[in-house]
Amino acid sequence: MADRDGFIWYDGKLVPWREANTHVLTHSLHYGLAVFEGVRAYKTESGTSIFRVKEHTDRLVNSGRIYQMALPYSKEQLIEAQKEVIRANKLESCYLRPIAFYGSEKMGVSPKGAKVHVAIAAWEWGAYLGAEGLEKGIRVKTSSFARHHVNVTMPRAKLASTYANSILANMEATENGYDEALLLDTDGFVAEGAGENVFIVRDGVIYEPEIASALSGITRATVYTLAEDLGLKIVSKRLTRDDIYIADEAFFSGTAAEITPIRELDNRVIGEGRRGPVTERLQSAFFELVAGRNPKYQHWLTQV
Ligand code: PMP
Repeated sequence: MADRDGFIWYDGKLVPWREANTHVLTHSLHYGLAVFEGVRAYKTESGTSIFRVKEHTDRLVNSGRIYQMALPYSKEQLIEAQKEVIRANKLESCYLRPIAFYGSEKMGVSPKGAKVHVAIAAWEWGAYLGAEGLEKGIRVKTSSFARHHVNVTMPRAKLASTYANSILANMEATENGYDEALLLDTDGFVAEGAGENVFIVRDGVIYEPEIASALSGITRATVYTLAEDLGLKIVSKRLTRDDIYIADEAFFSGTAAEITPIRELDNRVIGEGRRGPVTERLQSAFFELVAGRNPKYQHWLTQV
């Protein structure tokens, strides 16, 4: 990733991609306290537009707030910087990665005295779980690793070190031939994917786990809105892994994963073993929306 042309927004300035470096004694590299976002911008008829940049920026600032890390830029500046980095890299559609981290001013667990730095990169990134996955659905394995308990790392924050848990789960699943991992909470109830929220459909009703130990996904919130618009009932409740085994349909939601159908969990075929009709309706509505073709949600699209 480091050896590319282009620009990265780093502490208020656009820096050539290869020069956007930081010292090996960066506090966040050692102790894992960095907060970040994953945002997408899509090509629309009126140009490139960032999807729900306000919500992503709010979540970034809130992630910092949870960990008492005050970001040295206003939300307006951060939104402007995200636009700027897309323009500088001449991207039509892309994934954006804002990250705030502590610098190399000091060592020791306490970050007091370390400066908060902010970087924003943008690059083209296709379907996270594969183009075929978007259409045909993916194979998922329940992880032997539990999701963080709410009093271990706090799930409302998108915190770098939380992802060590996601990496363990994703590696276990993919090394065993699956596409992605599903994590249960410490009580054994469904939490989320390694980088996605999860939904099921049963008898025409959409269910999703209460997000106690899961990230409050922005795509998840979008799915709620779209489901209501399509007249579909959506219920949030505790779910078990076998609720998924006997579902008619299941899918993941996430900025990177977008809406990806799940066709198998733990070698049990879900429904017909392919993208189900409700998933397909939501997926089409989602792609219409992000492409700017749903006039009701223009306010979720910020032109670059
Ligand atoms: N859960 C986890 C662990 C994630 O990493 C993500 C991706 N950010 C999500 C859920 C989905 O969140 P969003 O829809 O806001 O991308």
